[in-house]
Amino acid sequence: MRFDLITIFPEFFGGPLDHGIIRRAREAGLVDVQVQDLREFTKDRHRSVDDRPFGGGEGMVLKPEPLFEAVESVLGRSAGDAAKQHRPDPGTAIVLMSAAGKLFDQEMARRYSRLERIILICGRYEGVDERVAEHLATEEVSIGDFVLSGGELPAMLVVDAVTRLLPGALGNEASSQNESFSEFEAGTPKGPFVRAPSQTDTGKAGNTTNSAARGQVRALLDFPHYTRPADYRGWRVPETLLSGNHREVIKWRQQKAQEKTRRNRPDLLGE
Ligand code: SAH
Repeated sequence: MRFDLITIFPEFFGGPLDHGIIRRAREAGLVDVQVQDLREFTKDRHRSVDDRPFGGGEGMVLKPEPLFEAVESVLGRSAGDAAKQHRPDPGTAIVLMSAAGKLFDQEMARRYSRLERIILICGRYEGVDERVAEHLATEEVSIGDFVLSGGELPAMLVVDAVTRLLPGALGNEASSQNESFSEFEAGTPKGPFVRAPSQTDTGKAGNTTNSAARGQVRALLDFPHYTRPADYRGWRVPETLLSGNHREVIKWRQQKAQEKTRRNRPDLLGE
């Protein structure tokens, strides 16, 4: 899997790419992450990447030319017109990070993890010339309902969520099988933490979401984890976890996952 991050702040990614699972995945050759300096794709003397907005208003807007040039340079070909139905390469996504985009979630991360190549465009200032969203990006993606000052953190978050889903990326450290937002083939041996499809999956008009349509069910949020010491400042680890009774432990985890999902994310239960 190859990622290209297009940014006006290439140094931004130094830290996040050099630690933990992502670092290991890079070293193992599972992912190749290239950071592209947008200014390298300007042609004027001042290497300008932004300009004032037509129609007036505050702030600056990232110009289309350097972004198109950058994407076409890393693709090694013309980007065509993303607004036209014909997609030259279904294995490649060109993603514009945008507070006004579609919400990123674990299902999108899973879809991305099956691609060969993802180009992530990081906006800044007031945002990006709309022709990038319309004709260059194959998708416009938001990481949540809040506004950040740039697309670098959002892009990094996508790289992280996708990389840890690649086979071999997690090693023995953890598994992406039984965590929050996991999905299972319906009918396969289910972990204990699976909920049945609900109204969330079957919309009011009976429209099923993608996952329900594929016959898949989703996990509850993760259950609470504890480690030593068994007593910390008088707060004891729940007795069931210390009991050694595996069946009881599973029941307890199921119940706590259910409680936590109801408390923090009732929407996942269709409530
Ligand atoms: N004027 C825009 C915000 C621009 S913020 C608006 O109101 O929607 C500058 C850049 O930060 C954006 O171009 C985008 O790349 C990035 N950004 C900000 N919030 C984001 C979010 N929630 N998800 C993804 N990218 C975001």
